[in-house]
Amino acid sequence: MAETKNAAKSITIEDMAVFCKKKGFVYQSGEIYGGLSGFFDYGHLGSELKNNIKSEWWKFHVQQRDDIAGIDGSIITHPKVWVASGHVGCFEDILVECSKCKTRYRADHLIEDALKIAADGLKKEDINKLIKENSIRCPKCKGEISEANQFNLMFDTNVGPIRSETSKAYLRPETAQLMFTNFRLVQENARLKLPFGIAQIGKAFRNEISPRDFLFRCREFEQMEIEYFVHPDKANDCPLIKEVLTHRLNIYSAEMQQKKQPHKEMSIKEVLDKKIIKTQWHAYWLATEHKWFISLGADADKFRIRQHLPDEKSHYAADTWDLEYAFPFGWKELQGMANRADFDLKQHILHSKKDLSLFDEETKAKVIPHVIAEPSQGVDRAFLVFMFNSYNDDKERGNIVLKLHPKLAPVKAGVFPLLSNKEELVDLAESIYLDLRKEFPVEFDTSGTVGRRYARADESGIPFCITVDFDSLKDKAVTIRNRDDMKQKRVKISELKELLIKLIRGDISFEKVK
Ligand code: ATP
Repeated sequence: MAETKNAAKSITIEDMAVFCKKKGFVYQSGEIYGGLSGFFDYGHLGSELKNNIKSEWWKFHVQQRDDIAGIDGSIITHPKVWVASGHVGCFEDILVECSKCKTRYRADHLIEDALKIAADGLKKEDINKLIKENSIRCPKCKGEISEANQFNLMFDTNVGPIRSETSKAYLRPETAQLMFTNFRLVQENARLKLPFGIAQIGKAFRNEISPRDFLFRCREFEQMEIEYFVHPDKANDCPLIKEVLTHRLNIYSAEMQQKKQPHKEMSIKEVLDKKIIKTQWHAYWLATEHKWFISLGADADKFRIRQHLPDEKSHYAADTWDLEYAFPFGWKELQGMANRADFDLKQHILHSKKDLSLFDEETKAKVIPHVIAEPSQGVDRAFLVFMFNSYNDDKERGNIVLKLHPKLAPVKAGVFPLLSNKEELVDLAESIYLDLRKEFPVEFDTSGTVGRRYARADESGIPFCITVDFDSLKDKAVTIRNRDDMKQKRVKISELKELLIKLIRGDISFEKVK
């Protein structure tokens, strides 16, 4: 069984939730009525950060590539989609109940917490056995735990004015299926040739038995997903593999887990040569997803890829690897990447009776493409990664510094007049602020000392602060302070906007500013 410990220590998930609320990143949804478990609202800073994560993902995966096209599918779709995908029949977790206080638990989580082992994918019989053999009791009241039962995670609703079995529909539990049902239309209209991908960002809903760990497991969340289609005979023929062969990442294969070995850092070349990952496309996408996080400032060594154990894999998957992150509450899945082969397209061909195959010019035959990798990740989990990764309790400064990558930072610059009671300074600072905010989000702060304003900006993750002082009135220049090392440079007001755009994009480092 996979280890669940060994994660880097930082602030706890509970402290992160408190910080997010205090600074306006995330609130419990419906808090004034006591909150609704598993639902969250993003605040003024959180909504900006979340939008930035999604837009960086979209740029990197869709706009800057010519082999991937995007869609934006509906949340409620034809119910038969979910019958064909298998969700209506078997999108289930195993539930147990305390016979005394009636609290319901997701059985694998109860076991993981009690025995410190990974229990994802265990069957009902194994769960009952483990609970009995280890005398696992209700964590709240020590009551006895019931026999395990299946529980379907789909949220259902009714479409139209009459509620009946035929009006029943579902809120989508994943974004993936819309990419399969629109497969032919997108391929034809975007004139895509194999290999190609379809991408989507959007909401997904799962009636999780026990939402927990703040944003990590919610009932309403967002996904950023790609279904990448390849010719069935070309799973191991990835023309892009050269881009990632020297890329290194922590590997945790099923064999390493079974032999109780720790994960090991390896290059993609080594992993493919040793056949640890069997297909080039799977390796390419795992490395590419790791690279995306690193490109936005995340620490490379806090990630690993973990292969699913044979009894953990979904029914449709030939091989599955998860990209995991060392959260303070353990190594956890950020992104699942299953080799789904032709399972989904075949299911939709069977249920819709429509032809979803493509004509292969080379062999002059029809083929049903395979999905060797479907990079599928939660926006809310990525949000947590970037928050944990950037959170620094700076004892010298005496405040938190949120070292978010400038591309992700909710507010890019703060503009301060040195003294807020000097009209000339306030007027000049305000005119700079009004000009900058045409390009990106800027904060104008006149309250308290400049030191206090820097501290507030640090805690909101603002990468650059601009101070207008008495010299500015004469030399038409301002001081820019860099959040991460507090270094300051003097810059002409006429060059400020262009410079900030370059700094945010990462075209120039602060060190290089003259
Ligand atoms: P888990 O094992 O953690 O329940 P999963 O394997 O069921 O996740 P997938 O169906 O592979 O998840 O979904 C793809 C991604 O969507 C996950 O890697 C995760 O980032 C995100 N995700 C899934 N369920 C949730 C949830 N309840 N809350 C937040 N994000 C989620």
